[in-house]
Amino acid sequence: MDKNLNNLFVISSPSGGGKSSLIEALLSEPNAQNLSLSISFTTRLKRSTEEDGKNYYFIDRKEFEKKINNNDFLEYAEVFNNFYGTERQKTEKILKSKDLLLELDWQGAFNIKEKFIETKNIFLIPPSFDDLKKRLKNRGTESNESIEMRLSAAKEEISKHSSYDYLVLNDNFEFALEDLKKIVLNKVSVEDFESRVTDKLLNKLLD
Ligand code: 5GP
Repeated sequence: MDKNLNNLFVISSPSGGGKSSLIEALLSEPNAQNLSLSISFTTRLKRSTEEDGKNYYFIDRKEFEKKINNNDFLEYAEVFNNFYGTERQKTEKILKSKDLLLELDWQGAFNIKEKFIETKNIFLIPPSFDDLKKRLKNRGTESNESIEMRLSAAKEEISKHSSYDYLVLNDNFEFALEDLKKIVLNKVSVEDFESRVTDKLLNKLLD
C-alpha cells in the first residue's frame, strides 16, 4: 500500500450478523474522528429503512455495468443475486486523510486484501444460527425467501473464518463494540488481540 495512506479495515459478517449497528456505534465514538465508512454502490432495491447516499448508492444494473466497464470499482461482487461495489476514486481519496472501514462480503474482503496486503480483515461471528435468524426476522426487511437464502449462505461464509485477521464474537453488543474499538481505534495487533471466539463455537457453527 502507498506509504502515505492510512489504515484500511474490512468488516464482514453473515447477513443478520449485526455489523451495521456496531459500525454506527463505532463511528460515533469520541476518538473515531479519524475514521470514515465507505458507502458502496448496489443494484439491490432500497429497504424502507435505508437512505440513498447514506447506506448505499442505489443504482440499476445498467449503471453498475457502466461503472464496471469504466474500471470505477476497486472491487465488486455478486451477493444474493445483486451487485455490490466499492468505488476506487472515493476510497483512495478518503484513505489519504483518514482510516477507512469497508463493509464487504468475503469475496470483497479477499479481493481488497490481495490489493492492499496491510488491510486488516475482521469477521463478526454470531453465537448461533438461531441468533442470525432471529435478527433477520426482527429486522423485518427481508422476505422469507431472502431470509432462507441469507441463512444458507451463512455457513459457507463462516467456513472462510481462517482467512480473516480478527474474529469478533457478536454475542453481546457492548462486548463486540469493545473488541472493535480495540482493533480499529486502538490498533491492537493480531497477536495481542484476545478473540472470544472459541474453536468449540466454530466447530458447532460448521458442524
Ligand atoms: P445487504 O444486502 O445485507 O446490505 O448486503 C449483503 C452483503 O453485501 C453483505 O455481506 C455486505 O457486507 C456486502 N456488501 C456491501 N457492500 C459491498 C461491496 O461494496 N462489495 C462487496 N464485495 N460486498 C458488499
